[in-house]
Amino acid sequence: MLHVGQMDKKPSVFNLTLSGLEAWAATRKEPPYRAKQVLQWLYQKRVSRFAEMSDLSGRLRAELESEFLLEPLECVRKTGSRDTTQKFLFALRDNTFIESVLIPASPALYGSASDRKTLCLSTQVGCAYGCRFCASGLEGWTRNLEPGEIVEQVLRIEALSGEKVNNIVFMGMGEPLANYDNLLKSVEIIRAPWGIGIGARHITVSTSGLAPRIRGLADQPLQIRLAISLHGATDDVRQTIMPINRKFNLAALMEACAYYCEKKHQRITFEYILIENVNDGLDQALQLARLARRLEAKVNLIPYNTVQGLSWKRPSQTRQQTFYRAVRKGGVDATIRLEKGHDIDAACGQLRLQTMRDKNFAGSHNLR
Ligand code: SAH
Ligand code: SF4
Repeated sequence: MLHVGQMDKKPSVFNLTLSGLEAWAATRKEPPYRAKQVLQWLYQKRVSRFAEMSDLSGRLRAELESEFLLEPLECVRKTGSRDTTQKFLFALRDNTFIESVLIPASPALYGSASDRKTLCLSTQVGCAYGCRFCASGLEGWTRNLEPGEIVEQVLRIEALSGEKVNNIVFMGMGEPLANYDNLLKSVEIIRAPWGIGIGARHITVSTSGLAPRIRGLADQPLQIRLAISLHGATDDVRQTIMPINRKFNLAALMEACAYYCEKKHQRITFEYILIENVNDGLDQALQLARLARRLEAKVNLIPYNTVQGLSWKRPSQTRQQTFYRAVRKGGVDATIRLEKGHDIDAACGQLRLQTMRDKNFAGSHNLR
């Protein structure tokens, strides 16, 4: 494995879109269809070496080899088993770490189809937004992921698990809309028929509420789904746990969401973690129902997953149910998330955090 300072300067070939590869082929005086050939080897045949691209000339293969990396992410830890939620911790080439989560059929996550294989992707190493309850933000932000590093999570997990992923949620580590250009590029590769081929309607972006970027996304010709991490239904409650609410308050956020719904003719989802004595009172349930009704948004209630080192707690089952019933009574389509993976700390960022705090592992991997 490469260590800090030894990072190979070659870009990953998975950063390239069809037009990017066509442009590259043109500089090599090759016809544009070479780009499609390369993409077929990468995404349909899933080769692991340029040398295997047998319908390309030796010269072209050597040129690809000298300019790009075709090297899978290194999986350094894995938890869970085939029919449960599985978490994968990956070492990146600069020895930073991210995690991805593979969730088998997940009825409480956006729909009820039982053949769903949902993959939760990270978009940044760490997160700058510092939500008080979240493991990903605890150690701050290190860097944005490149488009290829986002795409490689899908490829690597399909290879490791033997499963075909058919649903993508950008709910892993990091704030996707703060890595906007790379997010869009990765979405292009994930949805394209020449790429991974998962349609935009099966891709959900979750955001803590970057209002201008939500509008930007609404202006894109893409039918991706939007989920908002709400977690508080009034400004005073929300801003005690989510600092971003001081920059974009609920009024600004709701306007941006309304713009998204209007442009996309889509219903969005509000995610709402239930944290004991913080946001689980009936006043919040009523306000939440009011906000959701206005936008005809769905509400996904998520009992809080405890994070090592943080003192927040999940409410009792009774309190969860009372909150859930109050939201539904308010005329809202609400679900309460089935606790897949709670035992293995499903909330993203936790495996990395635990691993970073595990001195034996940290010592042997020079963790960052
Ligand atoms: N930054 C984006 C996407 C990543 S977070 C966002 O905030 O939306 C994905 C989801 O996991 C968010 O709704 C987040 O609030 C939630 N989450 C974070 N920590 C959690 C925890 N300890 N228990 C349950 N959900 C958590
Ligand atoms: Fe970042 Fe999202 Fe975690 Fe907030 S909830 S710290 S925005 S990853």
